[in-house]
Amino acid sequence: MEKLAEVKQCTKCNELKELMDFYKNAKTRDGYQPHCKVCHKELVRKSKQKNEDKHLSDRHNKRAKRFGLPAELTPSLVTYMREEQQGRCILTDIEEGLHFEHAVPSIQRWGKYLRKLLLH
Ligand SMILES: [Zn+2]
Repeated sequence: MEKLAEVKQCTKCNELKELMDFYKNAKTRDGYQPHCKVCHKELVRKSKQKNEDKHLSDRHNKRAKRFGLPAELTPSLVTYMREEQQGRCILTDIEEGLHFEHAVPSIQRWGKYLRKLLLH
């Protein structure tokens, strides 16, 4: 008789998946992570990106201050722009090594300066 595969519900995507779709975790009651491998990878990617965006905004603000420019960039604004630009430089369309434009903002629309992520 075929043994039924043990399944577990992922706490993130709510899908029922086989145990092999979960990473092991000695600290949990059932010995597996509460979320599946796919969701785990997404969480890792997001937290990595969050650190990167924080780093990017810190670096930008430091430079802006030195030049007497407004230093008000926040990590969440960087994340927003990254999503809006689908993670690409608006000039070169390249995904790698994004850098915040630290010249005086050159794009003006609706009386507001828009800053974009550029490849450094
Ligand atoms: Zn999942």
